[in-house]
Amino acid sequence: MGFFFMEKKYQIAIDGFSSCGKSTLAKALAKELRFLFVDSGAMYRAVALYCINHNVKIEDSDQLNSILLDINIQFKQEQDTLQIYLNEENVTEAIRDLKVASQVSEVAAISSVRKKLVAQQQKMAESNSLVMDGRDIGTVVFPNASIKFFITADPLIRAQRRYNELRAKGNPSIDFNLVVENLRHRDRIDSTRDDSPLRKADDAIEIDNSTLSEKEQLQVALTHLYNKFPELKN
Ligand code: C5P
Repeated sequence: MGFFFMEKKYQIAIDGFSSCGKSTLAKALAKELRFLFVDSGAMYRAVALYCINHNVKIEDSDQLNSILLDINIQFKQEQDTLQIYLNEENVTEAIRDLKVASQVSEVAAISSVRKKLVAQQQKMAESNSLVMDGRDIGTVVFPNASIKFFITADPLIRAQRRYNELRAKGNPSIDFNLVVENLRHRDRIDSTRDDSPLRKADDAIEIDNSTLSEKEQLQVALTHLYNKFPELKN
């Protein structure tokens, strides 16, 4: 007799402002649970990079809609890191540039861009348990996520973290004030746009990690998760 068993899939949604440690937590959770990690911000950055490289006028909706058909974004796990490909080109490093950061929120505010990327994000959850971080994961992408976290941190601590990260990645002359300015700019646009503004879902668990180490932050999240889903332990 045939016997069909559908394995339960989990979605862990992590949202919050820029540079507050969402991806760090998402990566660590995914590793611990052996779930897929999806950095949804990287997808918006890839679209922004494409627009910069092809001189796309984002206010021209015809041009934008036609280039969206040409954009293919893929994640590939290589060794221990997640690489992102834009039309077969590895753009993992390129999307971290401050030039991309300074335009990505404008691109991410456009509904046709969001529609395409949200559909792709939801599709990934059909065949995988995953941890996804972003701005609208618990509110729009997975409103019925298994568990939702909303991460916050002191704005200056966030700027310092991003500054250290950019310097460590080979930008020794980066200006701290520019980093602060960029975070402010993105926070403002991300939380005031009409389509899917950043906000905490009513049922999200808030974690302020200003004074937490990466390990402590992971422990806090795991405690909530295992309380809710003891079967995930081990
Ligand atoms: O997460 P990260 O800072 O790399 O995201 C870059 C930008 O992409 C954000 O500032 C935001 O404008 C946009 N974004 C979004 N929705 C998401 C993830 C990112 O609008 N789910």
